[in-house]
Amino acid sequence: MDGVIMHTKHVSTGTDLTLKATAVCLYYKYSLLPMSITLRQPSPLVDGVSITPNGTILEVKWQDSAPSRYHAYWIRHNCHCTDCMETESWMKRIPARNIPRKLTLGKAEIDNGSLVVTSNEDNHTMRYPLGWLKSVSYSTEDLDEKSTQKDIKYKTGPVQTFEYEEISKSGDIYFDWIQAIENDGLAIVKNVPCEDKKVGEVFDVESRDNVTNIGFTELPLEFHQDMPYSESPPGLQLLHCTRLDPSVEGGASVFVDLHHAAEQLQKEYPEHFATLLKVPATFQKIHDEDERPSFIVYQRPHISVNTKGKVNAVFWSIYTEGPLQVPEELVEPYYAAYFKFAELIENSPTKIRFQLKPGDCASFNNRRMGHGRETFKLNGGVRKLQGLYINIDDFKNRVKIEYLKRGNLQNLKRIGDQCGS
Ligand SMILES: [Zn+2]
Repeated sequence: MDGVIMHTKHVSTGTDLTLKATAVCLYYKYSLLPMSITLRQPSPLVDGVSITPNGTILEVKWQDSAPSRYHAYWIRHNCHCTDCMETESWMKRIPARNIPRKLTLGKAEIDNGSLVVTSNEDNHTMRYPLGWLKSVSYSTEDLDEKSTQKDIKYKTGPVQTFEYEEISKSGDIYFDWIQAIENDGLAIVKNVPCEDKKVGEVFDVESRDNVTNIGFTELPLEFHQDMPYSESPPGLQLLHCTRLDPSVEGGASVFVDLHHAAEQLQKEYPEHFATLLKVPATFQKIHDEDERPSFIVYQRPHISVNTKGKVNAVFWSIYTEGPLQVPEELVEPYYAAYFKFAELIENSPTKIRFQLKPGDCASFNNRRMGHGRETFKLNGGVRKLQGLYINIDDFKNRVKIEYLKRGNLQNLKRIGDQCGS
C-alpha cells in the first residue's frame, strides 16, 4: 500500500546514490562500479541481398535464419552515416523533411560485414553493420522472438530467496536476484540489516491511529497494486520487514501474478477480456482532509495488450478504485468482466503466502504482481515494514545492462510497463 506521496519516491536512473535505506543500496550497489557493455554483434552470414523491381523493398537472405525485408523509407530513416546519425549515442539527425516522399532503392551490396545501399531520389549512400541490421529485423519470426511479452512459465512454487551478504559480495548473485524478479515477479532477500534510519525516500507501514491509508491499520489487504491512479505507477517495491515483535499474530504477506490471471481471462472469457481492454476504470487518490490534500483521478482500462494482443499491463487495486465514469451501455458489461477477473485473481494458482520476518525484504514488480496481507493483531507489540519504490524504467535498464555485460542480447520478459513490443 502506498504511503503519503510526500514520503514516497520512485527512485530512478541517475538518482542520488547517498540513499540510506539498506535495501535500495543493495539494488544500486553494482551500478556504481565502472562497467563496459558492447552492442557489437558478430556479423551474420548472408546468402544475398536483392531489391524488388519497384525499388521499395530490400530483402536480405541470412544463411542461418529466415530472410528479412526492409522498406525503403525504413532503410533511409535508419541510415548509419554520420550525416544521418550520431554514431556514439545512436541519435538520429535526419528530419522527416529530408526523406524524399517518393523513395526507391538503387543498388545494394555486402561490403566487409556491412550492407551498402543507395537511394535514387536523393542519391544517398547508406551503410549498416549486418549484426545491427539483423538485430532490428522486423520479420514476423524476429518480432515474435524479440517480443517482451513472450509466453512465460508462471511460477506456482516457492519464492526464490537470496542472502543479503551474498548479493553484496557477488555481482553474479545480484544478477540472479534481479533476474528472479524479472522472471517470477517476486524474490525475497534475507537478513537485510534493519537500520532504523529515517530517510525521506522510504515510507513506513506501521499500524497507527488516524490513518489516511488502510495499509497503516491491522485490517487485511486484498490483492492490489500500488498507485494505479498514477500515470506511471511504481515499478519495483522493496518491502523490508524491520521489526516484528513476538506478540504480533498474523499479518502474512500474500502475492499473486496478475498477468497470469489476465491471460486466463483472455483464454477462457474473451468477451470479458475485451471489455476490460476497452472500458476505462477509474482510479483515484482523494485525501481531502489531509493537511496536504490530494485529488488525483485517472481513468484507464484494467488490462492493456501489445500489437499482437499479448497482455502488457494490468492495473488492479480495489482501494484506489473510484466511481466508474463511462457511457451507460458499458456499465453492465464492465461489472460482469470485473467480477470474473476478480474471481480469477482470488483463485489464481500463482497465489503465494509467507510471513516476512525481521530482515526479510520482499522485492517485487508492482506492475506484474498484486500484493496483500492477512489481518494481524499487535497485542501490544510492533510490526514494522519499510517500503521503497523503484521506477520501472530504472529496473528495465538495470536488468538489460546486466544482460549486456554478459554479452546476452535477449529482451526482458513481462515487465508490465505497457511496452508495445
Ligand atoms: Zn545517411
